[in-house]
Amino acid sequence: MKKNASNSKDVKTYNRILIRNIIRKLGPIARYELAKETGLTPPTVTVIVNEFIEDGIVHEVGFGESSGGRRPVMLELNSKAAFIFAVRLQRDEVVTALFDIGGNILNQNKRTLDTSVAEDVVEAVGNSYDWLIENTGIDKEKVLCCGLASPGLINTHRGLIQHSSNLKWDKVPLGAMLSKRLYGIPVHVENISNAAALAEKEYGSGRGYHDLIYLNLSVGIGAGFIIGGEIYGGTRGYAGEIGHMTLMPDGGPECACGRLGCLEAICGVRAITERMKRELPDWIFEEYGVNKIKLNMSDLFLPSIVETKEVRMILTEVGRWVGITVANLVSIFNPELIILGGELPKAGGNFIEAVVEEMNKSVLKEFVGTVKVVRSKMKEDPPLIGAYTLALEMLFSIEKWNL
Ligand SMILES: [Zn+2]
Repeated sequence: MKKNASNSKDVKTYNRILIRNIIRKLGPIARYELAKETGLTPPTVTVIVNEFIEDGIVHEVGFGESSGGRRPVMLELNSKAAFIFAVRLQRDEVVTALFDIGGNILNQNKRTLDTSVAEDVVEAVGNSYDWLIENTGIDKEKVLCCGLASPGLINTHRGLIQHSSNLKWDKVPLGAMLSKRLYGIPVHVENISNAAALAEKEYGSGRGYHDLIYLNLSVGIGAGFIIGGEIYGGTRGYAGEIGHMTLMPDGGPECACGRLGCLEAICGVRAITERMKRELPDWIFEEYGVNKIKLNMSDLFLPSIVETKEVRMILTEVGRWVGITVANLVSIFNPELIILGGELPKAGGNFIEAVVEEMNKSVLKEFVGTVKVVRSKMKEDPPLIGAYTLALEMLFSIEKWNL
């Protein structure tokens, strides 16, 4: 938004964006309240609001409380005025969804990816988009923006995946490639953990918190930091790559990044399942009817298996490593809240207890009790919701959408 809008067209565009954002955030809202919030004159507000109503961007939704005179007509943004395409990408799978700007999911689509060639992945996402447009029957012209959450080190300004060991990509201009496939709509690319942290802050356990850390504990491990209410990306936007912090300096298991002893190589879901295949006695697999060769993390969510002494031991050890990591993050950032998300926390109480116990042991006693540790409870996929949230923010801050 231009701070010094000089000509009258700029001023009008600026005022329209201002009014639209306030209706979005504070609606239902009366015209006189809009004038008060924006500092604009009531006639200016009336002209712009009338144009919005005519264009179907704003609805009148009944009457508000009277402050002495007539009851005011309340205004609300029409959530079906525009739509957003959101994408959550990972190595083997892509999940997409179409949202309206009121945050409702119209439909979603999940596809298995049997390739990590960037062009093929972009095509799969594009096909998924076409499928959603066809199945929801919405006007493609009304999909104005795309948000995409991806693993890796991401230059968000350029939509560039600088490096991702999960996708095995280096310097992939994903934003530009996808924008082209999506018929030219702008694409905002963000790291998956940052997107999830934002989703938790806006719609999940993080509501009302300003300083929180979201840990994505899946095949890959990463953290998203919300500091002072905003995503903290660091100088290049790479902050939060905690999966590749060295925990075992003298070796340790080999990591997907090629180094030894990274957190991800010890506590990543794939690392854990491989360890279980090696270490658990055969009778456990036989007794619970689990295929040892095809073992995946969902097998471990079976409460009966999690409760066996052997599995408890492994999960407690993994929980302690995560606890040490959390303690280090608490010492650096002093957050109010830590959210444990991704696949691993689904293993249950035993794991979470081990994390909290080790964290409390590993920080100065003054920190103990100052930070809450919770499991992510969001029903929808946090990175997907985060991708939507980022695209929504983008949509409401660019002048391009000159409504
Ligand atoms: Zn690594």
